[in-house]
Amino acid sequence: MTENVTIIGGGPAGLSAAIYLARADLKPLVFAGSPPGGQLTLTSEVENYPGFESILGAELIEKMRNQAKKFGARIVDENVIKIDFSNKSNGSHKTYLTNKTYNSKSVIIATGAKALWLGLPSETRLRGKGVSACATCDGFFFREKTVAVIGGGDTALEEALTLTKFAKKVYIIHRRDFFRASKIMQERVGVGHARPVQKNPKIEIIWNSAVEEIIGEKHVEGIKIKNVGVDRGRPEQEIKLDGVFVAIGHKPDTNLFKDKIELDSKGYILNTKYVGIENLNIKNSTKIENLKLKIPKFNINYGSQTSVPGVFVAGDCADPYYRQAVTAAGTGVEAALEVERYLENVK
Ligand code: NAP
Repeated sequence: MTENVTIIGGGPAGLSAAIYLARADLKPLVFAGSPPGGQLTLTSEVENYPGFESILGAELIEKMRNQAKKFGARIVDENVIKIDFSNKSNGSHKTYLTNKTYNSKSVIIATGAKALWLGLPSETRLRGKGVSACATCDGFFFREKTVAVIGGGDTALEEALTLTKFAKKVYIIHRRDFFRASKIMQERVGVGHARPVQKNPKIEIIWNSAVEEIIGEKHVEGIKIKNVGVDRGRPEQEIKLDGVFVAIGHKPDTNLFKDKIELDSKGYILNTKYVGIENLNIKNSTKIENLKLKIPKFNINYGSQTSVPGVFVAGDCADPYYRQAVTAAGTGVEAALEVERYLENVK
């Protein structure tokens, strides 16, 4: 049997695609992973998903799954272990579970991305209890509180600026004595002024420091930081605070697709839209040459299609920019609508 469309991933992107494709009577097959549900199941409350003033992440996913199933989507809570997009056999793509092979005319990849964590036991214990990796999602809970952001890239500085809208004080804790973030973001937090800017009075940067422990039993009460780099001589320090935002990068879940479709240097899946955005951003000639090689593989008629015809992508595994449940759901719908059109055209 050849499926119309197989969706790999059971977060908001995959499930939104499943709802649309099921309602289009295409009977999508969803591999939701094991454990299923993606990043949303790791958060506690979600307050920024339109239509829900407040809902637990896991409950939101459960509702999406039920909605998709109601319209005829089949959801399998297993991980795909191998794929074959070579398209040589019978014009279809193959996905493999541990014990079975599936053929499919089209595929939507929606495997998501994971925030990177420091790896401290106290960080794991207090996740959702003051430890977060998303200021846009959780900043609101820290009105008039003191928080710390860990990291020195664009994400960390962006998180810190977002948090100044809510918190009364925002520490940025970074392990070096310089930021790798873009100059404009550095200026916004008050570092390395190329031109006079108003330093944000809520932000205090603590350089050359690493978090040793997050203090607190039921919720975050403080952090213990040690000195690294040039400040090794400084004594250990404890800071009382209410929230810790870890912003040390993200990793898309795309190992399965390496060498099968085009990925960017960080492992995000390229689709026509993304290649277009990168094209506008290019600053050096090596990048331009790389893009010239890649562009012919993308079809401008399908913004969510990857470098392989019939293989589409949605959600955080193709999105280093926004990483929200709503944007993931939105790109899931885009991919679903394009798959519908694609299937009509290849009939
Ligand atoms: P990133 O650029 O990889 O920065 C990660 C930061 O976390 C670095 O400062 C790194 O320190 C630090 N770090 C990594 N592991 C750590 C650890 N175990 N303990 C403490 N610190 C650690 O990641 P990102 O900031 O998420 O950005 C990813 C990409 O998205 C970048 O290309 C960025 O420019 C882009 N982005 C752009 C925007 C924007 O344009 N508005 C916003 C967000 C992201 P070191 O510096 O010491 O390595």
